[in-house]
Amino acid sequence: MSVTPPGPEAPVAARLRGVASSPVRDLLALTEKPGILSFAGGLPAPELFDHVGLSAAFQSVLEKGSAGRSLQYSTTEGDPELRRRVADRLGVRGLPTDPDDLLITSGSQQALTLIATVFLEPGDRILVEDPSYLAALQAFQMSGAVPIPVPCDEDGIDPAAVERLVAEHRPKLLYVVPTFHNPTGRTLSEARRVELAAVMERTNLWAIEDDPYGELRYAGEPSTPLATIPGAAERTLALSTLSKVAAPGLRIGWVRCPPGLRRPLTIAKQAADLHSSTIDQAATARWLAHVDLDAHLDRLRTVYGARRDTMLELLPGTLPEGSEFNRPDGGMFVWVRLPEGLDATAILPFAIERHVAYVPGAPFYATTPDPRTLRLSFTTHDPAEIRTGMERLREAFRHATG
Ligand code: PMP
Repeated sequence: MSVTPPGPEAPVAARLRGVASSPVRDLLALTEKPGILSFAGGLPAPELFDHVGLSAAFQSVLEKGSAGRSLQYSTTEGDPELRRRVADRLGVRGLPTDPDDLLITSGSQQALTLIATVFLEPGDRILVEDPSYLAALQAFQMSGAVPIPVPCDEDGIDPAAVERLVAEHRPKLLYVVPTFHNPTGRTLSEARRVELAAVMERTNLWAIEDDPYGELRYAGEPSTPLATIPGAAERTLALSTLSKVAAPGLRIGWVRCPPGLRRPLTIAKQAADLHSSTIDQAATARWLAHVDLDAHLDRLRTVYGARRDTMLELLPGTLPEGSEFNRPDGGMFVWVRLPEGLDATAILPFAIERHVAYVPGAPFYATTPDPRTLRLSFTTHDPAEIRTGMERLREAFRHATG
């Protein structure tokens, strides 16, 4: 075994010191071990990737006649055909979009980083749901910004609390995942969307509406995008991605931006990576041209909906007496709160010993964690595996509670 001697200390930027490295990460590395049934990651089911359609699409854009373009440098804004197809789809989903409003990004994660670059200076405040998507918190903290948690309940973020915190902190932005939130699976109610838009208008608050999961709905009616509601529409950067509906390995996301922001975001992207992979964009545009997207989504919804039902049915017999959990209408996650006195991070090693994993909720909180919470993803495993995983989890909780 070779042991590399420590080198000289590198002059790493101060902003990295503010970005917490979670102790949970080391534990989660163990969840990659073979044999572990993991409900930890938000991974789409690999058997549902349209690998046949995608491989045909890649092959076609690499054929003579297309390859010269697919393998060349391209524009920062993104493949025009892909932007047109994404804009069409957003229109069908109730978010009318001009292709010129879209900047294609390397996953929606890059859109978060670019927005942070354009908006946030060290010390700036950004309002976030409490809890919030962990990697968004990291992107904001990397800019030196300070996330300010906003209270949330079963109906999502509280607009009155947003208004109060705007007055108190003068934030540059609000970041929300209004539909099938990560990590809680909650959806902002229609009434609250309207109230939030009114607060945004009154206080001139700009928002990021991050919507990776909206197409994965298993019950209820489609939600109204914040980006269409007057008051919010003019001030909202709407993000989404093909990661959950096609495949995360494509790294195709986008930001739909109000006109004045196109140029600064494009410049930020130029500086970051010139443009997203030309070949991946071309193949994705070709795939979208050929796939029956509604049929593909119906299949995802049927399979994921059944997996959600299996998990929800088994949870009461799995969790310790007095636990609470929600019943999300879509997305990938169930949010659990253990009874008083239990700590989800402390119990995780017992779960891993029994070859099952979840993510403790603590790292998703910007300031004060609730140690009793945890997130379970129901999309990666089939119902039989979910059953086995829940049995193992029940044993882990039994062991932890004596
Ligand atoms: N936003 C949220 C809320 C997410 O859950 C994720 C993925 N887990 C992303 C953004 C980033 O996704 P991607 O970069 O793959 O588009």
